[in-house]
Parts: sequence; structure tokens; C-alpha cells
Amino acid sequence: MIEDLLPPDYTLPNLIQLRFFSGKLDRGLQRKGESLMMKKIVFLLLLFVGIRNVSPVAAQPQSPASNFEIQKLAEGVYAAIRKQPPLMSFDPNNVFIINDDDVIVVDANASLAATKELIAELRKLTNKPVKYVINTHWHDDHIIGNQAYRDAFPQVEFIAHASTLQDRPTIGEANRQQMLTGGKGYAEHLRKQLEQNKSLAGTPITEEERINYRSDVAWLERALTEALSIKIILPTLTVEDRLTLHRGTRTIEIRYLGRGHTGADLIVHLPKEGILITGDLVVWPVPLVGSTSFPAAYSATMDKLLTLPANIFVPGHGPVLRDNEYLKLMSRLLTSLKDQTAAAVARGETLEQARKSVNLTEFRKLFTGDSMMRRILFGDYVSGAGVAAAYREATAK
Ligand SMILES: [Zn+2]
Repeated sequence: MIEDLLPPDYTLPNLIQLRFFSGKLDRGLQRKGESLMMKKIVFLLLLFVGIRNVSPVAAQPQSPASNFEIQKLAEGVYAAIRKQPPLMSFDPNNVFIINDDDVIVVDANASLAATKELIAELRKLTNKPVKYVINTHWHDDHIIGNQAYRDAFPQVEFIAHASTLQDRPTIGEANRQQMLTGGKGYAEHLRKQLEQNKSLAGTPITEEERINYRSDVAWLERALTEALSIKIILPTLTVEDRLTLHRGTRTIEIRYLGRGHTGADLIVHLPKEGILITGDLVVWPVPLVGSTSFPAAYSATMDKLLTLPANIFVPGHGPVLRDNEYLKLMSRLLTSLKDQTAAAVARGETLEQARKSVNLTEFRKLFTGDSMMRRILFGDYVSGAGVAAAYREATAK
């Protein structure tokens, strides 16, 4: 089994260096020693596993637009659930809350084309105007589409956490420039992997990976084509802790529960409908703990999230969840990540040493099952950037 030959919590430097949404490059991971170690691992894998003779498949990108499904969650509440498979680049879920006189939208998209398509879908449901777009955080995939809402609804207001005004033009813009600079090379790298039937892990590519790589290539091509026409629109209304909107009998709670996926995660809670829209505090199938995340605070934020009464959970990415089991698992993982990394720091370990001593094997199995694709994501999101972020937090104290 290929899986058995993999080191327990491996990371892939080439993926980490091309991380788009989770933040800036992780300096620790770019150190030569680790890069050499990873090359050795890949080399050993090839030695042990060899490359199976699989039929070549051309890297045909498919349009990332029209890749969502509208699901009715309650009267007037609709989720647009993205069907793109997860890798490095994908659009978020969106929610329409249609009220007596207006519409509130949760999250914009990663592209103007995808957002325009979504607005066209909204117009099939209602002719009421969009009054507010809530950006659950300032990562590109949740904010770029603001521009399309402004064009379609000139009176629209954009709601985000107060820190967005400082962080988006600085950290957010640096991340965006990195994506634009590295995106072309990354897409080419994926195309090459597809042509050679090779996984990013160096092993023979699985069908699941093939689908995901193609989706990433298509997404990147769209992002790079649109890049020059994108203008980021910052929030016009900011929230520190809580904002409650009342629309007829509907109550819409917008809350900041603490740092987590970023320092600016807002959640939207509809208490009467039992609906919780989490933004990227919850990402399925593998939590996205990036270099702009705060693992030490994240588990406490998840625990607060779990106290809010709900039976329908809309994650930032992934399908609608009908119970909180996945959220509880995330909370346990984040607690373990935080505690183990803090213990490693207390023992005086370097980041490289902590990477070896922090053992997330049990969690990795629970999140990834038999999927090589998910193992790549876990290695990149959690064991890679997540441990580095937890280490940064623990050493900053
Ligand atoms: Zn996202």
C-alpha cells in the first residue's frame, strides 16, 4: 500500500510555497534542510512504489463557473454549495437570506465571472435588492466578488470584521500578489503532473487527484485572466464582536467569536432557523489551518461556535453538514495541535524538531481515510502550515 509507505505527517514544500488562501509563505518550510528531506522522501517513495503504467490523460481544464448547486435550507434561505473538488484553489459556498424587502448574502466569490453567475441565479429566486454582503473574512476567495455586487446593486453595503480595513490592504494584498506571481507556474506544474500521471506526492496519480488538479488549473486560468479587472472593495460596515439584524420575524446574528482560520472570522447565525454559516472556520474535508491562522485560539473559537444552537451548518467550503460531529472533530484536532506544539516549544525544540514530535496520525486517519488527495491536503494545511502557525504562536508568548 502506498499509504503505508508515506511518513506519518508528511508535507509537500511545492504545495506550501504555492498556498494562496491560507496566507504568506511559511519561512520555516522553505529552509533548505527540510526541502532536502522532502526530496529524499519523494525519492524513496518512487524507489519503493515505482510508477504504474497508467493511460495518459490530457490536462483538459473544465470551466470552474456554474459549478454550484442551490439548496433550500429554510423558508427564504438558500445555500449555493460549490461542487469544485478541494485542492489549493476553489470558490466558497454562499448563502442568500431573502427577507421581506431585501436580500443578505453571505460571502462573495473568488471571481467576478462566478459571482455574476450566482447573481443571475439569485434573480431567479427574487427581484429584491441585495442590501448587505457579509464577507466572513478577507481572503481573496471570499471578497473578490464584492465588485460584482456593487455593479449589480449600487446601494449594497459590505460587512466584515473591523481588522479587515488594516489587514486586507497589507497582508491580503501581499497574498494576492503572491498568488498572481506564482499561479502560472503552479498551473503549469499541475498540468505536467497530469500529463505524467504523477501525484504531487510523487506517487502515481489517483482519479480523485486527477479531477482535483484539473479543477485547480481551470480555477487558476480564470483568476489570472480576470486579474487586471479586479478591484478589491473593502467593508463599508465593520463588526467588532456582534451585529444583530432584524428583518420581519427573522433575526440574523453576525458574530466574531475569536481568532481562528484568520484573525477576522465572522459567523452568521440564524437562531430561529437553526442555521450556522461558519465561513472558513469550518472547511471540509480537511480543516484549512494556514499561515494566517491562529491555532492556539482556534480550538477555543470552535468551542464557542459549538455552543450556538443549530442543526444545519454551512461550511466555508464543503457540503452542508446536518450535525456538529465534524466541528467537534476539528475542535479536538486543534486542541491537540495547540497542546503538542506548546509542549514541543517548552522542551526547547526547533520548528523542524516540533514537526517530527507533533503526532497527528490518529486525526489524519479520521480526516483523510484512504484518500491520497485528502492526505496531501492534511499534510499541507494541518501538518505543514498548521504546525508552523502553532509554533509561531507558542514562541511569541
Ligand atoms: Zn475560503
